[in-house]
Amino acid sequence: MPSDNKQILVTRSSMPPLEEYVEEIAPLWESHWLTNMGVEHKKLEAQLKERLGVENIALFTNGHNALECILEALELPKGGEVITTPFTFASTTHAIVRKGLTPVFADISANDFTLGPESVEELITPRTVAIVPVHVYGLPCDVKAIQKIANAHGLKVVYDAAHAFNVKVGGRGIATYGDAAMFSFHATKVFNTIEGGAVCFRDPVLYDVLNQWKNFGITGPESVVYVGGNAKMNEFCAAMGICNLRHLDDEIAKRHTVAERYWKDLDGVSGVRVFPPRGDVEYNYAYMPVTFDPKVFGATRDDVADALAKVNVGARKYFYPLVSDYDCYRSVYASERTPVARHAAATVLTLPMFADLALEDVDRICGVVRGCAR
Ligand SMILES: *Cc1c(COP(=O)(O)O)cnc(C)c1O
Repeated sequence: MPSDNKQILVTRSSMPPLEEYVEEIAPLWESHWLTNMGVEHKKLEAQLKERLGVENIALFTNGHNALECILEALELPKGGEVITTPFTFASTTHAIVRKGLTPVFADISANDFTLGPESVEELITPRTVAIVPVHVYGLPCDVKAIQKIANAHGLKVVYDAAHAFNVKVGGRGIATYGDAAMFSFHATKVFNTIEGGAVCFRDPVLYDVLNQWKNFGITGPESVVYVGGNAKMNEFCAAMGICNLRHLDDEIAKRHTVAERYWKDLDGVSGVRVFPPRGDVEYNYAYMPVTFDPKVFGATRDDVADALAKVNVGARKYFYPLVSDYDCYRSVYASERTPVARHAAATVLTLPMFADLALEDVDRICGVVRGCAR
């Protein structure tokens, strides 16, 4: 295969040097304590509080279970309506529905793909109990406007911050906004623990409750008070997180360089739009979303995806289709009120983005994209 057809995947998991990981896990061969809130788990929890600037955090097997657990722990009334976005990964909506709540899909902002506050406000009814917005691609929601609406109507706000690790808004950690924020530490995310996740929350009382929910509802040696599940992060995953955290600033700096190269390479191409963060945001460069206006650019998003696939470049139609169009939701919940989200899903493509992506490869990818223009 010619080298200019070298396969480039859409993402590549960050890993610490092997020796560093081995050193981190070696003590486990002494202690034989492999899971259930061990030394590594406690250490990672403490380091993440510091890194994220939060008071309260609980670790989980993955982000999805963290989201389910916080929705459960907040004791939202069953059947209550939760206003959320259809422009997200399956997990956000599935967590709402699996917890016996009713998703109500609001539209998004055309500027940054996040839940539009006006659209949220229009959909509030006496049955509304919470808002679950998503910091899509790590781009922060309008946290102030959303909080104002929540305060006015007595609603809980739980952010899906799966993409937004290490992001700050107005100098504050993203997880300090809302009642709670969930992070995913999945292998494909900016910071990973192989599989893993966490929830940060305002009310410290929730710490014990969440730890009980993730451990079968056990509250003591002889007492079980919740019908909980099992969602505890194990020591090997926590150790991976501790190692990856040491390299995170480096990784984000490299992602920043890659992002700037994309934005420069695609600057001024008619009908192509890129999405750098607002000025008050400290970003993590999690993804590289690009939208194509076929009337101006002369080719559709699908044309670009096909052209990239032909030269072995993995771009993803992320997020397409809208969650509200999934087979399991289409006939159940209405979605005609989200024209902006529908348009975004039809025109967006996320291009390869990871710390070690070579700048020459970015140039090659952008060359193929520009070549699609007619
Ligand atoms: C990755 C992701 C999740 C789920 O996280 P897991 O750790 O894979 O369970 C939830 N929401 C969004 C938006 C995600 O991208």
